[in-house]
Amino acid sequence: MPGPDRASPMITKTPSYDLSPRNTFRMKVKCALYVEVTEEADLPALDWDSLPQPVFVMGGGSNLLFRGDFPGTVLHFGVTGLGSATVPAGTVFDDFCAWAASENLWGPENLSLIPGECGASAVQNIGAYGVEAKDIIAGIRAWDMLERKFVDIDPADCQYGYRTSRFKTEWKGRFIITSVTYKLSKEPKPILDYGGVRKAVPDVPITPQLIRDTIIAIRRKKLPDPEEIGSAGSFFCNPVISKEHFEQIVKTAKEDNGPDYEVPHYEVPGGIKVPAAWMIEQCGFKGATNGGAQVYHNQPLVIVNASGNATPEEIIGLEQRVIDTIYTKYGITLHPEVEHV
Ligand SMILES: Cc1cc2nc3c(=O)[nH]c(=O)nc-3n(C[C@H](O)[C@H](O)[C@H](O)COP(=O)(O)OP(=O)(O)OC[C@H]3O[C@@H](n4cnc5c(N)ncnc54)[C@H](O)[C@@H]3O)c2cc1C
Repeated sequence: MPGPDRASPMITKTPSYDLSPRNTFRMKVKCALYVEVTEEADLPALDWDSLPQPVFVMGGGSNLLFRGDFPGTVLHFGVTGLGSATVPAGTVFDDFCAWAASENLWGPENLSLIPGECGASAVQNIGAYGVEAKDIIAGIRAWDMLERKFVDIDPADCQYGYRTSRFKTEWKGRFIITSVTYKLSKEPKPILDYGGVRKAVPDVPITPQLIRDTIIAIRRKKLPDPEEIGSAGSFFCNPVISKEHFEQIVKTAKEDNGPDYEVPHYEVPGGIKVPAAWMIEQCGFKGATNGGAQVYHNQPLVIVNASGNATPEEIIGLEQRVIDTIYTKYGITLHPEVEHV
């Protein structure tokens, strides 16, 4: 079997690469070529035209579902580093959160323990507990694979929305993010009004570290640890629907659960956001399985690789059953948050 080929001192190319340790769903898939870049300056030197196509840029593999072997090149920008507001894209995002908290700097503390790397934080617009990446990103540096040059990207041009950005739409496949500059502040800016954080925070002077520790404790109770059970986090996006549609759902829910029942929801620009987890649970999917795939019992928004040997087909089969059932019951089409590659 061919071994890694060192194209330059900082680029490693591995043919027929096993991606199973590199995706948190633990799908047993391979790519034709895996390229690990550990020096930004090597990007221009890479022989781009010789790479098997398509080229897919991967971070920590925590929001991906590989549907099978990938026929092209999977490229990882593996430069890491901590110590300032500008962070190389391959740095684990939670390492950055830990560093900021240790320096008593405010900004990313509510995003603690979200898996993945800093580069992807700017692609995904990761969010949790009332904060989204877009709130704390000041600048992005990237390699433009089309123009073959480095560019500085203004976050104002990134069309950030709920778990989305221009990197996922019009710019899909164009940029390799090489560093992200975050806004960090010495001024206390606690955001406590989401997900029970205020109640859980101890009654002592609030610091970024305290919020970080509180959020980590809340998350550990709810979400599967990717080290123990394969998943890609929330599998579906929460849908936003019209007021009229929401009233129909309330009617159905009261028929199912009694006249005093209240449907969880949040008013957002453009309509009403209804938690997909609530709908999935109402449809009886908590703990439902398809082969090795399972709707997670603690948080039905998450599909897990319960057996450790689930196949992409089993995950997708369960996903489709959830989508079809919810559409039939509520007239809502759920869209996956997890990227299918
Ligand atoms: C247990 C668990 C909990 C989670 N909780 C949350 C949560 O609370 N909130 C939330 O928002 N997400 C959550 N996620 C999802 C996931 O952590 C985020 O989407 C994260 O940003 C993915 O980072 P990654 O480095 O693993 O990216 P990947 O999954 O590898 O890639 C995601 C996307 O980013 C692109 N990308 C990655 N790196 C680069 C780069 N350097 N340049 C250009 N494009 C790049 C990829 O092409 C892909 O399109 C959770 C996931 C798990 C497994």
